[in-house]
Amino acid sequence: MPTLVIATNNTGKREDMRLLLGEVPELRGFELLTMREAGYPDWDPEETGADFTENAVIKARSASSVTGLPALADDSGLCIDALDGGPGLKSARWLGANASDTDKNAAILERMSGLEPGERGAHFVCSLALAAPDGLLEVREGFCHGRIVRAPAGSQGFGYDPIFMPDGFDLTLAQMSVVEKNAISHRRAAWRELAPIMLTHIHIISGFANKSDGNFV
Ligand code: IMP
Repeated sequence: MPTLVIATNNTGKREDMRLLLGEVPELRGFELLTMREAGYPDWDPEETGADFTENAVIKARSASSVTGLPALADDSGLCIDALDGGPGLKSARWLGANASDTDKNAAILERMSGLEPGERGAHFVCSLALAAPDGLLEVREGFCHGRIVRAPAGSQGFGYDPIFMPDGFDLTLAQMSVVEKNAISHRRAAWRELAPIMLTHIHIISGFANKSDGNFV
């Protein structure tokens, strides 16, 4: 069976990406594996890129070369105007590796407590990169614009979803169903750009199968 690696061990991202990939009829016959499922639970390449795109490329290339399979990687984060674009590239490790999402959200709300609605602008960024062992590399970026609310709300999603309200909505991303979030998210915006490009390479991508299938190319 043709196999594609979703190059993340972040469960929230993985579920968002599975939904996006599942919409493309040409990919329905693919086995989708996380790095853990591909046999690399400790995979964690150093994200040394200067921006989201460089980090997505680092992750996609690394996952593809480690597994010998095509890999789709996401690098994403929340950029808050009042925090000079932070946590930005450091979204995952902001406040240290041990801080929970709840801690990070509380710290952001505390820092922004005195700010008026017009000063609460923010956007999510997502870069999606596709790499294959033959050297194929494509990367596209997407955005979701909105604002930071005054108190966390909702229990769906992950990460900063409870404190982010997208433009045009009265709900945080965490108050939306995963399907509603996926219709407007930064990951969707990047996927809208990348999916058609991916289809033009489908003959390459479908030429790789998981070793355990016995028909490894
Ligand atoms: P990285 O791309 O693995 O470096 O980490 C991205 C971090 O940004 C995640 O751990 C989340 O904290 C945050 N993030 C990215 N996308 C989303 C999203 O869709 N909702 C909420 N938080 C997100």
